[in-house]
Amino acid sequence: MLAYTYVEHGKFELLEKLRPQIKDARDAIVRVTLGSICTSDLHIKHGSVPRAVPGITVGHEMVGIVEEVGSGVISVRPGDRVTVNVETFCGECFFCRHGYVNNCTDPDGGWALGCRIDGGQAEYVRVPYAEQGLNRIPDNVSDEQALFVGDVLATGFWATRISEISEDDTVLIIGAGPTGICTLLCVMLKKPRRIIVCERSAERIRFVREHYPDVLVTEPENCRDFVLCNSDHGGADVVLEVAGSEETFRLAWECARPNAIVTIVALYDKPQFLPLPDMYGKNLIFKTGGVDGCDCAEILSLIEQGRIDTTPLITHRFPLNEIEEAYRIFENKLEGVIKIAITGGR
Ligand SMILES: [Zn+2]
Ligand SMILES: [Zn+2]
Repeated sequence: MLAYTYVEHGKFELLEKLRPQIKDARDAIVRVTLGSICTSDLHIKHGSVPRAVPGITVGHEMVGIVEEVGSGVISVRPGDRVTVNVETFCGECFFCRHGYVNNCTDPDGGWALGCRIDGGQAEYVRVPYAEQGLNRIPDNVSDEQALFVGDVLATGFWATRISEISEDDTVLIIGAGPTGICTLLCVMLKKPRRIIVCERSAERIRFVREHYPDVLVTEPENCRDFVLCNSDHGGADVVLEVAGSEETFRLAWECARPNAIVTIVALYDKPQFLPLPDMYGKNLIFKTGGVDGCDCAEILSLIEQGRIDTTPLITHRFPLNEIEEAYRIFENKLEGVIKIAITGGR
């Protein structure tokens, strides 16, 4: 089968590999019908994910059809259309039982697919702990509608869940990339008084204005003043920082009102400076981390009810055998790309 592979630092290549086999009773083999490319794939390519293993098939955003299951898997059956969770988790350890599945203590726990074990930019993928990692897609939800459930949408959902948003709040979301927009969609479900999106790119500002006209939009340079003018208590009640650029960590806490929750979703390239004397007396609550991706069934149900729609994010489509071109466009942010859907097979 075709498998897009992390060959070495800076180099991915479409290789011919053997189809994956069941290794454990809790595994499933999924035929990938639709996949996508994530910024984290680029982080692997450029060496900022040191635990990524050369030789692995990349890709951790996908949906597909169950081809085969191990004897211990009963929640899904061959022929089921499923989402695949970015995270592998056992469902039984201390962290899993508390919903902190990102910190599952299994050796393959956390983000393993397409990083430490073979992922889904391929024709087939082996999913460990398939009972946890796969969710059946409702019949009236398309592959494209379900494509982001296991990764970027799960991230937006989790970030919103931990941010304790109420209907009186002014919520600031910094960054309107794919994860930022998924976060926006989930924040909108909480019906806060105002949502402000801060974004630098003119293309992405246009996208937000076109699709979500009730959302206020500002650029980073004006963000502090804009939030001050458009909030009730001297800053945002909740800030979600999804951009991860040089200035945005500081921007996040500066735009927060005293006692606000500041949720850091972004993955930074460099350490960030936490100037405690400057923020003394502001009494902020910081929440940080990587997604606990255990809400996929609930997210699929919201999609089924028409309450979340991420299909406008898919701006490009390519077959797997043209994935190099898809990467070129995604990596260089050409043609107004937001997300690319990669169709399975050749
Ligand atoms: Zn990702
Ligand atoms: Zn676990």
